[in-house]
Amino acid sequence: MLAIFFMCLWVSMLIAFACTTLVALKEGTSQVKRMHQIPCHNCDFFTNDHRLKCTLNPIIACTENAICCRDFEPKTANCNASQKIRRKLC
Ligand code: SF4
Repeated sequence: MLAIFFMCLWVSMLIAFACTTLVALKEGTSQVKRMHQIPCHNCDFFTNDHRLKCTLNPIIACTENAICCRDFEPKTANCNASQKIRRKLC
């Protein structure tokens, strides 16, 4: 009788673990999808410099608030973010 009790307990713990893992995976996936909607890295105003990420909206740059940014401009070839040359910090 005791063995059946522990078997049921073990199975219920296994099911709870599987459910928790599935919920965590689902939440993680939706969070990653949301982060990929942030448009800043493809924006002309993105500077690619950690000191000033965006010249127009530096506070919301690279955050979830930037997903619906009205100032988004598609990146052009001669914008700052496209420059591959390293800047000298003197
Ligand atoms: S203008 Fe908007 S989309 Fe562009 S880099 Fe700044 S915050 Fe991001």
